[in-house]
Amino acid sequence: MFKTTRELDNLLKKHESYRAGCLNLIASENYASEKVRSYLAGDFGNRYGCYATMHPEEREYTGNKFIHEFEMGTHELVKEIFHAKYVDLRPIGGHMAGMSVVLGMLEPGDLVIEVSLSDWGHGLVGPMCEVRHFDETIQVEYMAFDENRGVDGEKLKMQAKKLKPKMIIFGGSGTLFFEPIKEFRGIADQEGIILAYDASHVTGLIASGMFPNPLEEGADIMFGSTHKSFPGPQGGFVVSNDQDLIEKVGNTLSPTLVTSHHLNRLPALAASILEMKEFGKEYGAQVVKNSKALAKALDGIGFKVLGKGRGFTDSHLLLVDLGEHVTGAPAKELEKANILCSDDFSGSNPEVRIGTPEVTRKGMKEKEMQEIATFFKRALIDQEDPEKLKRDVEAFSRQFIGCEYAY
Ligand SMILES: *Cc1c(COP(=O)(O)O)cnc(C)c1O
Repeated sequence: MFKTTRELDNLLKKHESYRAGCLNLIASENYASEKVRSYLAGDFGNRYGCYATMHPEEREYTGNKFIHEFEMGTHELVKEIFHAKYVDLRPIGGHMAGMSVVLGMLEPGDLVIEVSLSDWGHGLVGPMCEVRHFDETIQVEYMAFDENRGVDGEKLKMQAKKLKPKMIIFGGSGTLFFEPIKEFRGIADQEGIILAYDASHVTGLIASGMFPNPLEEGADIMFGSTHKSFPGPQGGFVVSNDQDLIEKVGNTLSPTLVTSHHLNRLPALAASILEMKEFGKEYGAQVVKNSKALAKALDGIGFKVLGKGRGFTDSHLLLVDLGEHVTGAPAKELEKANILCSDDFSGSNPEVRIGTPEVTRKGMKEKEMQEIATFFKRALIDQEDPEKLKRDVEAFSRQFIGCEYAY
């Protein structure tokens, strides 16, 4: 049990020092600038700003005149970067944003097609159907992926025509290539399907122009996180050009899913959008260059990197099939050597997911990706003593103390 705040400070310092010596390749994390972090400690974090959808100017609580100005100003920034008419920033994370879309738009008996957990899906509707009550209400099916780990558009078209889902949710936690949304606009109009895009992982790529804007490709609604490839505070958002859809989302969010929407996210998000407007293009381009360089280096060393037929990846992450190289839990093994990434066992072979947003923000470029590839070789192919490898990983990581592409 803690007895003094000094103990809290010490533990936090330990964490920060430990993390500075880690090579963070977790694709869902990022490194926010000091400026962005500083806003999280402000007064907004202790206020209530709840409002009825479409009436933010009439807040339930008093004392909100500047909070209102802040939220509306941040809405304008989000609308600008995603070319959207409507936005809701009340979801406190991407998951809640997705829940508001799913719960707001589906009716009993409706079917959803989404990305399966075994294909690095996040699981919005699938896990919900594990709850008995929902299982009786909502049906779920999964889209197929091709040999390069892209969505199999032809199969999905056949599935959509046959099953007539109410909604298709594109986007997952292991997205290598942009999904063929454009091809689905016609079928969606014919069959009355809502095309939703879960941008949680790729928000930063869309904002920086490295990925097409799903709303412009034909998606009806897009939601996501603000802290994965997008280097903002942890949080969520929903955007659309359809007033009816955003109203349904908003009415589901509040008061069902959220009442305090963690207002201190707003100035931090606004600052990170301003940062992205200034440095985002350069940042996004380097993130993708780094992913491609790391994928190529790992392939050269003898790893089976997925998506080879399409150049491995167009995104902030790459996937490695470790079939031949491991028996245990690779992420836990790598953690012993201060290398942080994610693994997954739900497919046929164990896979690791390696993300480049944080190391890019720390200033690493293609040259450093070569070095990182050798760390993976030493850990997983040579099975070097993790303690020994850790010393080299730490020394390497501690050289990168800055935060690039930021104020
Ligand atoms: C991370 C993730 C989410 C959930 O976002 P949180 O911000 O963690 O709530 C939703 N969908 C996908 C595809 C994700 O990768």
